[in-house]
Amino acid sequence: MSQALISVDQLRVIYNQGKSNEVRSLDGVSVEIYAEEYVIIYGPSGCGKSTLLYGISGLQAPTYGDVFVDGKNLAKMTKREKVQFHQTSIGMVFQAFYLIDTLTVLDNVCLPKVFRGESLVQRQEAAMRLLQRFGISTQADRFPSQLSGGQKQRVSIARALVNNPKIILADEPTGALDSESAQNVLDIFKDINSTDKKTLIMVTHNPEHLVYADRVIHMKDGKKVREDINKDKRPMEILKKEGDKAGNKEGLQEGVAGALETSSPKGELTDAPEKISTELRLLMRTFKDLSLKQVGVLLIPFKAKQLLMHILSELTEEQTSSAESLLKEFLFKNIDNNILKTKLDLDMEKGGAGWNKLRAISFADRAQEIIKHAEGVGKNDEASLLSVTNYLIRIYHLKLEDDETLLRFRAFVKLRMENKIDRFGLQQRLDVPRQLGGVGLYKGTAEKVVREMEMIMLLSYSA
Ligand code: ADP
Ligand code: MG
Repeated sequence: MSQALISVDQLRVIYNQGKSNEVRSLDGVSVEIYAEEYVIIYGPSGCGKSTLLYGISGLQAPTYGDVFVDGKNLAKMTKREKVQFHQTSIGMVFQAFYLIDTLTVLDNVCLPKVFRGESLVQRQEAAMRLLQRFGISTQADRFPSQLSGGQKQRVSIARALVNNPKIILADEPTGALDSESAQNVLDIFKDINSTDKKTLIMVTHNPEHLVYADRVIHMKDGKKVREDINKDKRPMEILKKEGDKAGNKEGLQEGVAGALETSSPKGELTDAPEKISTELRLLMRTFKDLSLKQVGVLLIPFKAKQLLMHILSELTEEQTSSAESLLKEFLFKNIDNNILKTKLDLDMEKGGAGWNKLRAISFADRAQEIIKHAEGVGKNDEASLLSVTNYLIRIYHLKLEDDETLLRFRAFVKLRMENKIDRFGLQQRLDVPRQLGGVGLYKGTAEKVVREMEMIMLLSYSA
């Protein structure tokens, strides 16, 4: 019972180990964090704060040492357990927000729940409550680009809280905000620590923030140099054991977020029919701003669902749901293309998906091919571009009039692969007549090509 909630033991993270450009981002850091503590990780830029935070989140694997959360060694978790861990135990907030620009505020907050397969009403109610609490419920149907930085950060805090995790991790959450919005975020954090009893770990290099924390871990050059205790929240038995050495500094102000709404959820969500198709809308939209590679693994269950919906249309629910499980295994790389084929083909009684052989083969090969192109997106090289464009030309039988049109087609696909345009930008360029600088595809064909590209882009957010 008196165990630490998070226990970091001699954590080392070394990049380019053994090479001339070796960097010891973390050089043997040990930290214990107790339930309901508010801990700040403080130090100059480059001292390893983010690395420590990502180590605690399991997004950064240790080179040496161990990280335990709730008694579990993160490095020993399977990918599946890690996904579970991210869905239920921790919420993350970043300096750059990482909201998805093509989803509404409400959908952004709901997103972690989509991965868990909760009903739409459950998802939206929980999300709306948080938006109301943080004073941004009137922005629910707007898009992130229409919000101020402070509002965006409140949306991302709502997203971090929506699955009600015990632990919130925040990496320089006020780093991109003006001072008033920064204060608002600090007030919210204080409130979710003291009222909601969340264990909170915040990275900052701003000394003005330190007063908010129960404990401050000072870092320098990849090492912990000091811990300051403002207020000791460790369990009594541990304090007794250690002898109460905590310098109990008083004087932490009690002011709680001024701008927070407290009204109860409105009943408007349950009876809005156009909201029923959230999943479909997710599929139809671009996923272009989820660029944080490290969180890609969290998307795998969602990717499996979307890839399935994309490829299939005419199987029974049972056949599709067992195939979805198989696709998940495939995306987790627990099974390969051959096993995927075999299991799709196998009778349901024998644990398969009950498809026929032909369908199983063409499905598995198609999935494999899309994944291959998705992997090419990150490479950003000529070969991957050629491979994607040739694939699109082949499967949609594109008849590109001349070399000039082919070059244009490649250039536009390249822009999309580099995220310089979104799906609508691509659609338009493919659709516009050649004389006006486009590719001149039929509208329906352009749509199909764009859909395929978006699936490739979704899958490219790497695990
Ligand atoms: P902080 O968050 O305190 O600014 P970081 O944890 O981001 O510091 O980085 C600590 C050190 O590790 C820095 O010197 C940084 O350049 C280095 N570093 C971080 N990520 C990588 C990486 N992927 N490859 C090489 N070095 C890295
Ligand atoms: Mg950092």
